[in-house]
Amino acid sequence: MLLLSKAKDILQSYYGYTEFRKGQEAIINQVLNGKDTVAIMPTGGGKSICYQIPALLFSGITIVISPLISLMKDQVDALTNAGIPATFINSSINVSEMDERLRRMEAGEFKLIYIAPERLEATFFIELLNRVNVSLLAIDEAHCISQWGHDFRPSYLLIKKLIQQIHPKPVILALTATATPSVKDDICELLNIPFSNVILTGFGRENLAFQVIKGQDRDLFIKDYIQKNEDQSGIIYAATRKEVERLYQQLNSLGVRVGKYHAGMSENERARNQEEFLYDDITIMVATSAFGMGINKSNVRYVIHYHIPKNMESYYQEAGRAGRDGLESECILLFSPQDIHIQKFFIDQSDMNIERKEYEYSKLRKMISYCHTETCFQQYILQYFGEEDSYACGKCGNCTDNRKQVEVTVEAQMVLSCIKRMNERFGKTFITKVLTGSNDKKINSLGFHQLSTYGILKEKTQKEVNEFIDFLTAEGYLRPTDGAYPVLVVTNKGISVLMGGEKVFKKERVEVKRLAQDNPLF
Ligand code: ADP
Repeated sequence: MLLLSKAKDILQSYYGYTEFRKGQEAIINQVLNGKDTVAIMPTGGGKSICYQIPALLFSGITIVISPLISLMKDQVDALTNAGIPATFINSSINVSEMDERLRRMEAGEFKLIYIAPERLEATFFIELLNRVNVSLLAIDEAHCISQWGHDFRPSYLLIKKLIQQIHPKPVILALTATATPSVKDDICELLNIPFSNVILTGFGRENLAFQVIKGQDRDLFIKDYIQKNEDQSGIIYAATRKEVERLYQQLNSLGVRVGKYHAGMSENERARNQEEFLYDDITIMVATSAFGMGINKSNVRYVIHYHIPKNMESYYQEAGRAGRDGLESECILLFSPQDIHIQKFFIDQSDMNIERKEYEYSKLRKMISYCHTETCFQQYILQYFGEEDSYACGKCGNCTDNRKQVEVTVEAQMVLSCIKRMNERFGKTFITKVLTGSNDKKINSLGFHQLSTYGILKEKTQKEVNEFIDFLTAEGYLRPTDGAYPVLVVTNKGISVLMGGEKVFKKERVEVKRLAQDNPLF
C-alpha cells in the first residue's frame, strides 16, 4: 500500500495527473510487488506509465524493449523533460555515442534505458546487463513475440533467453494492445508468466453505440443515414476496391462531400483524400481497410461497415475510429450473410499455410457470431478480448431493442438433440436439412431419416432454421470446430438446456420494414 501511495505521488508530481486510469493501478501494484505481469490495454490506454512509475521506485534500472525505434527518442525526450534520467540504444546512434551511453549506463546514471530487440544479439550487451542492477524488464509491443500476432518479430524470441541470462532475474512486464487469446497465451508461455498474472483492461468505449443492421437495402440505409446526419463526419468501410468505387460514385452523384481511399489509388490521390478528410473539406470517407492506420481524427461521428470485416480485431480497430473526442458516436455494421463469402475468399486466396487459414476462419466465425448475438454488442466485444468484468452498455442496438422476448427452449432442445443424435459430426446446412425433413440422398444413406428429430422443424423454412442455429451459436449453446468446414458441437451450456437446467429466450421476430421503395437514385 505504501508503495502504491508513492506511485500516486509520482503520478501527480512527474506527470501532473490526479488519478490512475482503469488498470494502471492494478498493473503497477502487481509489478511493485515483484510479480511478472502481462498487461493488455488498448492503444492510448496509458501503458508507458505502467513501467515508468515502477522504474522510479525500483532501486535498479529499467530496460524497455521496443521495436519502435522512431518513437524511442520522443519517449526519452519526454522523460528527460520531466526530470527522469533516460536514454535509448538503437541503430540510429553512432558507435562512439553508443559507447558513451553504455558507459553512463554502467555508472548508474539512467533509470530507464530503451533498447531495440536486436541489441540482445550482442553477448557483450548481456554481460553488461549482468554488471548493472536491472530491476525491471519492460517489453513493449509484446505481441511481437507471438507467431499468432500480426507483427511477429524473430528478434523478440531473444528475450526468452535474456531472461534466463540475467541474474538476479528482474521483474518482467510485458505490454500490448493485442489481446487475442492465442497471442496472450503465447506471451505467457514464452516468457514463463502465469496466466493468473495477466491484467486486461480498459477496452470499453463508453461513448460508442454499436449496432448491427440486417435484412435492409444497404444503399438506401446509407442514403437515409447520411441525410439524417448531414455535415457529420463519418467513415464507410467496404470490403473491396470495386465496392468503394461504386459507393463513392453513388454518394458523389447525390452531392455529398465524399472522398475515397483504397490501395488501388495513387499515393498522391490517397494522401490528398486523407488530408481533405482530416481538415473536414470532405465529410465522408468511403474506404477499404487500407484507410485509417495512424489517423487520429477526433470528430468522426460514425463508422459504418458496409460488409462484415474479417475478424473482431479489425472491426473494433476500425469502428473505434469513431468518437475519439469522447462524444457520442455510432458504429454500424450492415450484415448480409452472402458477404461472408468475400472474407472466406480472401482467406482461401491468401498464401497462408493451412493452420493459419483455419485460425483465420475461426476468427471470422466469431465475427459472424457478433452479428447474430442478442446480448450487448459492447459486452460481446469486450468478452472477446478477454475483459471479464464488463457490463451491458445500455445504448447499443441490442440493449435498446425493445422487442418482446419469447421462450424458445423447446425449439433449442430440438436442434441440440438433433445435433447430438447426428453425433456432432456435421455443419449447419446439413443439420438444417435433417431438422426440416429434406429428401437429400445423403440423409437417407446415413439413416438420419429415421431419427426422431428428422423433420421436427419442417414447418419452418431452411433460412429460419439456419438463423436459429446462428443464434444458438452466437449465444454459446453451440460451438463450431476450427477449420474451413466446421462441424457444430453442443457446449456445456447447450447440454444444460437439453437437461432442462437452462431456458432459452429470443427476441420476437418482426418483419423489417423497407426504408424507401424504388428510389430512383439507388
Ligand atoms: P499507450 O502506450 O497505451 O498507447 P501512452 O502510454 O502513450 O499510451 O498514453 C497515452 C496518453 O494518455 C498519454 O498522453 C499519457 O500521458 C496519457 N495518460 C496516461 N495515464 C494517464 C492518467 N492516469 N491520467 C491522464 N492521462 C494519462
